[in-house]
Amino acid sequence: MAQDVTIVTDSMVSKDYASEMDAKDPLHQYRDEFHLPADTGKTPPIYFLGNSLGLQPKTVRAHLESVMNSWEQWGVEAYTKGDRPWVSYEDAVRDSVARIMGAKSTEVVLMNSLTVNLHLMLVSFYRPTTSRYKVIIEQKVFPSDHYAIKSQMRFHGINPADALIEVKAQPGEATLQNDDFRQVLEKEGDSIALILLGGVNYYSGQAFDLAYIAQLGHEYGCVVGYDLAHAAGNILLKLHGWKVDFAVWCTYKYMNGGPAGPGGCFVHEQHELASDLPRFEGWWGNKLENRFLMRPDIDPIVGASGWQISCISPLALASLDASMKLFDTTTMTQLREKSVKLTGYLEFLLNEIGSDQFSILTPSNPDYRGCQLSIRTHQNGKELFDHLTQAGIYCDWREPDVIRVAPTPFYNTFTEVYQFAEVIKKASSK
Ligand SMILES: *Cc1c(COP(=O)(O)O)cnc(C)c1O
Repeated sequence: MAQDVTIVTDSMVSKDYASEMDAKDPLHQYRDEFHLPADTGKTPPIYFLGNSLGLQPKTVRAHLESVMNSWEQWGVEAYTKGDRPWVSYEDAVRDSVARIMGAKSTEVVLMNSLTVNLHLMLVSFYRPTTSRYKVIIEQKVFPSDHYAIKSQMRFHGINPADALIEVKAQPGEATLQNDDFRQVLEKEGDSIALILLGGVNYYSGQAFDLAYIAQLGHEYGCVVGYDLAHAAGNILLKLHGWKVDFAVWCTYKYMNGGPAGPGGCFVHEQHELASDLPRFEGWWGNKLENRFLMRPDIDPIVGASGWQISCISPLALASLDASMKLFDTTTMTQLREKSVKLTGYLEFLLNEIGSDQFSILTPSNPDYRGCQLSIRTHQNGKELFDHLTQAGIYCDWREPDVIRVAPTPFYNTFTEVYQFAEVIKKASSK
């Protein structure tokens, strides 16, 4: 992409170039697999909010009906009857999710929702001692993560003001460098219990060097956990290989699993026996063969599934299942390849406009970002955003001055990126 950019600059700023890229796109057929937002205005809407709620695969309804039919036909016996007995439905869907996360199937479990899982992981993995009790997070961490870690600290009788270290960018920089983390560890490593990072920061769109940070954290004896809400189904992940201790994510953003779908949770195999880890337990963590014997003592599943507490909704699984069936027909490598081109094209067009009304906050190195670009507005930002909304573009505004746009490889096109840039060009030259 970078090469194309320098060679054919002029012709790239054209609708023809964008449609040519769409014609050459090996994933173009996937767009038809999704319900796009209804066309109500003059121009068809453009959905750039897969970072917030992924669109609905057209097969979701049939998957939901199948669960409804089983319920209708068998009542509770649907747990063990039909081609997708509910009791093992989670196993089936989990395999596809684990592939996307670069994890073994036994290291992954689908349960609850993200912030709940984060709390459950913190119960097991944030075990402060008098000398090692601090936690590193990134600047502008997602608020729910902030609340979760601070409330866990207070639960342990620790004052967040003493224990929470927010890694900040160097003066004049918008995003973080590997060195910023290394410096904090060099200074305070011995007192840091946990590094808790978002894989891709929701605000800046920056992807962190997750392999490097996991290794660095372990060198200093810290536990390393990631919130991958904006990374899952977006960037290439190797949770097992990187030896990440735990991770949590949601499935309703780039994974297109449906609103408030099952949360994802990863526990590295090295912790699978969990004999030294405290955790909160419930009957769903029992081995299947013992789960319904109703004994007073748990015989937990070995692996991440041992962290399950409650039963999971087959309806929520069915919706995610429909989406995972699409992921199964391609690879994250292919999706990522298109994504790098699509977001690279968006960046190129925005830079061509060269308006002093905005700049791009997200790193320009594709290794340090996913689909999303965060556009920092310098003046009349809200007006620019309103203009985009009126032009039928789904993007969002994050206070104080950022517009987030996330063209996704499954259902967005180069033509849409071109049209978006045209709207920005018109609006910002006024
Ligand atoms: C989307 C998102 C959440 C959402 O949490 P829920 O528990 O699913 O409501 C949490 N953390 C991050 C970083 C997110 O991007």
